[in-house]
Amino acid sequence: MKYVRFSNNSSNARYGVLKGDTIKEIEGDIFGKHAVTDKTYIRNEVKILPPCEPTKIVGVGLNYSEHAEEMGSELPEEPRIFLKPHTAVIADGENIKYPDYMSRRVDFEGELGVVIGKRTSHVSMEEALEYVFGYTCVNDVTARELQKKDIQFTRAKGFDTFAPVGPVIETELDPDKLEISTYLNGELKQHSNTSHLIFGVPHLVSFISQVMTLLPGDVISTGTPKGVAPMKKGDRVQVKLEGIGTLTNYVE
Ligand code: MG
Repeated sequence: MKYVRFSNNSSNARYGVLKGDTIKEIEGDIFGKHAVTDKTYIRNEVKILPPCEPTKIVGVGLNYSEHAEEMGSELPEEPRIFLKPHTAVIADGENIKYPDYMSRRVDFEGELGVVIGKRTSHVSMEEALEYVFGYTCVNDVTARELQKKDIQFTRAKGFDTFAPVGPVIETELDPDKLEISTYLNGELKQHSNTSHLIFGVPHLVSFISQVMTLLPGDVISTGTPKGVAPMKKGDRVQVKLEGIGTLTNYVE
């Protein structure tokens, strides 16, 4: 099922299930007890919101070998993790604000996002997928020269609007072999398959859960394939994941 979060003029955020262009409203908590109602909306008549409200986004660096190569980095022996603040999250269709007062190079990184469904602490790889609610698209926007300059990734990855997520959470999907593509102004820039992830989804969920408790709605961004490149103001960037959909954002 494809879950969306949305609002319209008269209402706060709510969840629904998307089928074609129709959204059926959900009653209850999607990470707990909930039911699909008969109340329907047309997708283009509501505002699509980020599909979840993470308390944190856990990024994974250098998780495709060809990307590690293009960055001139050694392959990691264990997952390289970092945090993006939840205040960076924006929805499908929203603008990435270019922080030109501080950065001269802002790159896209198209990634598969894992949405956690239950409180997750110290789970094994075998059990890990039971804690996953579903999958979404993430653009791990990065101020590249600041990433190189700072020891920490916090500034480079943490600007407001640097975490586009969405448009949906797909719950019925095998994350092991999904085509992933990123387009800049319609031109294909990144193209790979999640089968090339160095550390797959169960490994990442298990590994991260040994460090920090993951909560429902938290997002793990699993790393980007080769082909990262800069964006400029006015650009349209799209991250497309097989079986999930396309996340479209504009650079402002
Ligand atoms: Mg990344």
